[in-house]
Amino acid sequence: MALKAEIISIGSELVSGQNLDTNSRWLSGELGSLGIATGFHTTIGDDMDDNVAAFRIAAERADLVLTTGGLGPTQDDLTRDALALAAGVGLREDPDSLAAIAALFARRNRPMAERNRVQARIPEGAEALPNPVGTAPGIWMTIGRAAFAAMPGVPSEMRRMFHDQVVPRLRQRHWVEKAIVYRKIALFGKGESEIEAEALDLTARGHTPEVGITASDATIRFRIRGEGLTPEAAWAQTEETAALIRARFGSLIVGEDSADVADALVDQLKRTGATLATAESCTGGLVAHLITAIPGVSAHYLGGVVSYANEAKTAMLGVPPELIREHGAVGAEVAAAMAQGARERFDSDLAISTTGVAGPDGGTAEKPVGLVYLGLASRDKVMTRRIDVGPEQPRDVIQRRSSKQALNWARLVLLSQPDRIVSR
Ligand code: ATP
Ligand code: MG
Repeated sequence: MALKAEIISIGSELVSGQNLDTNSRWLSGELGSLGIATGFHTTIGDDMDDNVAAFRIAAERADLVLTTGGLGPTQDDLTRDALALAAGVGLREDPDSLAAIAALFARRNRPMAERNRVQARIPEGAEALPNPVGTAPGIWMTIGRAAFAAMPGVPSEMRRMFHDQVVPRLRQRHWVEKAIVYRKIALFGKGESEIEAEALDLTARGHTPEVGITASDATIRFRIRGEGLTPEAAWAQTEETAALIRARFGSLIVGEDSADVADALVDQLKRTGATLATAESCTGGLVAHLITAIPGVSAHYLGGVVSYANEAKTAMLGVPPELIREHGAVGAEVAAAMAQGARERFDSDLAISTTGVAGPDGGTAEKPVGLVYLGLASRDKVMTRRIDVGPEQPRDVIQRRSSKQALNWARLVLLSQPDRIVSR
């Protein structure tokens, strides 16, 4: 008989329509990728009788029950007590969990409230599931014919606990019959349809492994589905197709999984030892933000200037006022002067600049919304590029796409450099 799972999400905000229960969807997807079918989704409010009743029903009709929510320290958090009642046992204080909760408060330099102590209480006979990213430990126990895993409601805590604590226990019981992995390869610099046209052999129906394409913010991702008895075997099934994609798309590839242009640029900065500065107008610091979001970039990113007003472009970057008067702030000349100004002031190997019309107002026939000039200065030359994101695009899309174009340009310039040619 095939294994049947039930997912129970707990929270009055979920049944009242205030919040959408996304945890159940995520858990069902994860179970599916492990070859476990979900038979029931149950959602209940923060009510003791309803909780106990739902747990008792689940304990009789499912083999595996995953619950989320209700593990907090407040009065309305009932999962611990409801599990104990449903199993007909008492609660005990788990010393390891108590120590972990106390340590978490100590790390955050906050006193631990007495109420947090209840979070270390778990039903007799149950096992506590460590929560390295929050206060509430989870609970692993058997009720009726079912194995229960109670996890926090906070999605990030739940996901971590599911992967680190629940999945290994499912494997131990030999409940995981197969593994499905999705390997993503990210590309930037060409449109989705262009890329798809060059990969029709891979994305064709019936291709093994299955390959899909998704696009987000002009980053295109191939999604390769691998299936096998173990995660390793599933991963191995993706290797050949991944290698083929890498060979075919070469410098368009920025990385795997969630990697994006900024990660790939930082990789190139590290490889070459180059330093970078930024000068931004229409992107308002987004280029700098995307770079500094990558850990470990401090040796390479020196800093940036957000010069939004014309006067700031002159005062902070030395852009000649005549240049702005003559050509306008949105133009190749000013983009070049901004990049050169930043490169000199930060004494970096490279500097990138952005100046454009982010909209929705301010566009003209000559300089429409979505027009952005990028500048790129190295120690021996300054280059500019014009990009047109499109007048129909909203402001945030124009800002994000042009920021990523700027990062990608710097990445490609570094990619063409042999190792460590850029001097300090
Ligand atoms: P915990 O067990 O982590 O203490 P809780 O039920 O005590 O959970 P809440 O304060 O109710 O915690 O929820 C914490 C956050 O998690 C809230 O932002 C809530 O919207 C979110 N959350 C809880 N359950 C779900 C769910 N099923 N789907 C999506 N988000 C959820
Ligand atoms: Mg709750």
